[in-house]
Amino acid sequence: MYVPAMKSNPPPAIEVSDIRRALLEHYDRSRRSLPWRDATDPYRILVSEVMLQQTRVETVLGYYGRWLEQFPDLETLAAASEQAVLKAWEGLGYYRRARHLHRAARLVCERPDASLPSTYEELRELPGLGEYTAGAVASIAFGEVVAAADGNVRRVLARLFDERAPKPAWVRRTACALVDPERPGDWNQAMMDLGATICVPRTPRCGGCPVARWCEARAAGTAEQRPVAARRRPPRLTTLVVAALCREGRVLLARRPREGLLGGMWAFPEREISPDDDPPAVAAGIAADLGAALAAGPAPLPAHEHRFTHLHARYLPYLVPVESAEACSETEWVDPAGPTGLALPAAQRRILEAVGDRIGVGAA
Ligand code: SF4
Repeated sequence: MYVPAMKSNPPPAIEVSDIRRALLEHYDRSRRSLPWRDATDPYRILVSEVMLQQTRVETVLGYYGRWLEQFPDLETLAAASEQAVLKAWEGLGYYRRARHLHRAARLVCERPDASLPSTYEELRELPGLGEYTAGAVASIAFGEVVAAADGNVRRVLARLFDERAPKPAWVRRTACALVDPERPGDWNQAMMDLGATICVPRTPRCGGCPVARWCEARAAGTAEQRPVAARRRPPRLTTLVVAALCREGRVLLARRPREGLLGGMWAFPEREISPDDDPPAVAAGIAADLGAALAAGPAPLPAHEHRFTHLHARYLPYLVPVESAEACSETEWVDPAGPTGLALPAAQRRILEAVGDRIGVGAA
């Protein structure tokens, strides 16, 4: 992150300072008004940057304020249970971020001064803080002259220098060479804003761009083709039978293993099936494996689909009335009218709501 200039074709120093001035003036005039923009508390900046990883600003706006009310500082977050943390993150997705943030808070609170480290290198040692997040926090909260290049910034740089398929090392070098030494935090946020509002993916609004006169892709007429889209491996398709075991108006939820997809969240017992499997029989089999005696045959609930980054899951939920089931420390019988107090991923909450509708109560 500390390479001061690009290896090849660095822009002349005079142009770098012109580009910085033009973009920062534009930022000062028209930066987006966001609740974390005026924060000086490094913890608040950290929370916003972690929430913004792979998540749209509009979505984060619905969570940021509530999170800070519940966990106003690192100490409060560190003292919270993992379930409380996951519950507060419920619906924001990529739950590993919440677990990492929680662990980071606990590690920081073990430090003698219990405060967030102030350098990029130290921040990188905390769980969940990659190059981008550490760079953003170090520059915005502590004024360190370091770049923060997310996907938006990568796109801006690729266009500014007409780089067809920028590699991570090129992005790092180029981003570092441009950071304004006087206002590194504002610079990084200005670049993010430019990518999010003007230099947008499909049709960049070059007419209103403050750095258009230096933009090589615009001059070459290649802006819309930069950067070329990486060929992505298609997501794996999977079909899962979900068994909503139901007894006396309550349904059984189980905690998922802490590692892996949706780790630590609560979910209905489920099983991946192949095309030859008979879904109702699989639902009954799940109940049998949990030591439950069926009170009636499994009844289908509305199927639905959910896309994860590398996985496209199709859920086939069944309501499975049972007479009994073995107790287990990682399971809970909950009232679908709730509130359950448990952190459920979005797809599971939909199933809980469908169960509530089916048995005549509304899920909460
Ligand atoms: Fe992006 Fe167009 Fe600005 Fe170039 S001129 S940086 S392509 S918005």
